[in-house]
Amino acid sequence: MKTLLSRILKNSRPFRSLKFRIFILMMLIGVIPSVVTCACILLNYENQTIFEKTVDATNQGRALSNHLTEIAFLNNVGEEALSELSALSDYLSGRIMVIDSDLRVLSDTYSLSLGKTVISREVVDCFLTGQSNSSHNKKEGYIELTIPITGIDSSEAEGVMLISISTEPIRDSVETLRRKSWIFVVTVSIFVFVISLTLSQLLLRPFVRMTKAISSIREGFDNEAITIPDYTETEALTDAFNDLMSRMKKLDDSREEFVSNVSHELKTPLASMKVLSDSLREGGDIPVEVYREFMDDIAEEVDRENQIITDLLSLVKMDRTSENALNIDMYDINEIIERILKTLRPIAEKENVELIFESMRSVSAEVDETKFSLAIMNFVENAIKYNKSGGYVRVSLDADHQFFAVTVEDSGIGIPEEAQQHIFERFYRVDKSHSREIGGTGLGLSIARSAVLMHRGAVKVTSVEGEGTTFTIRIPLKYLTQAPKA
Ligand code: ADP
Repeated sequence: MKTLLSRILKNSRPFRSLKFRIFILMMLIGVIPSVVTCACILLNYENQTIFEKTVDATNQGRALSNHLTEIAFLNNVGEEALSELSALSDYLSGRIMVIDSDLRVLSDTYSLSLGKTVISREVVDCFLTGQSNSSHNKKEGYIELTIPITGIDSSEAEGVMLISISTEPIRDSVETLRRKSWIFVVTVSIFVFVISLTLSQLLLRPFVRMTKAISSIREGFDNEAITIPDYTETEALTDAFNDLMSRMKKLDDSREEFVSNVSHELKTPLASMKVLSDSLREGGDIPVEVYREFMDDIAEEVDRENQIITDLLSLVKMDRTSENALNIDMYDINEIIERILKTLRPIAEKENVELIFESMRSVSAEVDETKFSLAIMNFVENAIKYNKSGGYVRVSLDADHQFFAVTVEDSGIGIPEEAQQHIFERFYRVDKSHSREIGGTGLGLSIARSAVLMHRGAVKVTSVEGEGTTFTIRIPLKYLTQAPKA
């Protein structure tokens, strides 16, 4: 029953409407109390009236019974007593019979059973107990009273006064009252209906306005912020929506910027190649040395284009990788770093840069080997690239009980303070011409940082221009499935 109700509430469109629920709630609150009150009043009224009628008839009947005893009515049915019985019968709007100990009817105000024998359990009980009794027959619609008539000298019941009163008049007045109550309930319901309808419309108006405002925002994010301060709830909702919109706008801006940067970066080597090949084509008799030099330049540009595309692919892959796609396992971090340094040593030697590895302890941690290696590789490669001849790159590894830290320190050219907050942005390069000279794409640090963040880690940079730079990478030893709270 409960599940059926909750299923209806969940699946049916009108039931899911807040306006409808508010309307129904107000209707229930308004109508139920008036229905219950009317029903209680009606029930009480009927019972109370029947009770009062019974008490009144018993008192009157007892008084008359005493009088009948005094005038020895059972022995001598007198006219005066008969008219008193008739008067009480009229007063009570009922029938009064007096029955003697042979169960014979001595008098009947309806004159229907005079002289007949009455065999009724109530009458017999009254003779036996000598007590008055009353009963209400709801189905037939009458009250019946038996009142004993004692003898002059004895306290025994020698006769019984049987009073039957129809409850029809009470029922009629209850019926009239019921009709009036219905009119009252219907009037109240109509009133509550109108109030509920109006209020549910009014209360939900801010939400309707909000839906309209949100729907009116089509393309683009230049629209003004939505403000619906009617309720704290609508205010919170619009604030959250505006916040989301501004974040989407930022995202949209950065996407646009990224696309334009990508196009620019990809076009630059192509433009160089075009110039070089055009000059070869149109140059007439070109000496072989010049020809070779130009071809070398073209090959360099192809390499560069290739590098940009490779970096872009790594970046896109990194962006698209959800945490489930990470290939996390327990690895010896010392071993990974040593392998990376071995790969980069020839480049370092070529640049006349000393490559040092300092391991404070042996560290095992849960990482994605490929992505972690890519990150460290980029940091160390940069440290070699942006160094000076005769300089050094010191990679150190340490750990506490929760994290391990890789520090890549170099004695290179350093990063100006104002540029430090931008170096992780895509395509950002401090010195474009210098970076281009040494084959930078501006994507390396962005890729590295994404890889570290995927491991729930953090990167910190400190640098002094002309003296050197230190990158510190801190990653949890045990992979956290949820990002730590900021
Ligand atoms: P790039 O491919 O140009 O090296 P990165 O994203 O790796 O791109 O780095 C962004 C910029 O940050 C570089 O162009 C360089 O100017 C600066 N940079 C990065 N690492 C270092 C470092 N170790 N020393 C000095 N400058 C650095």
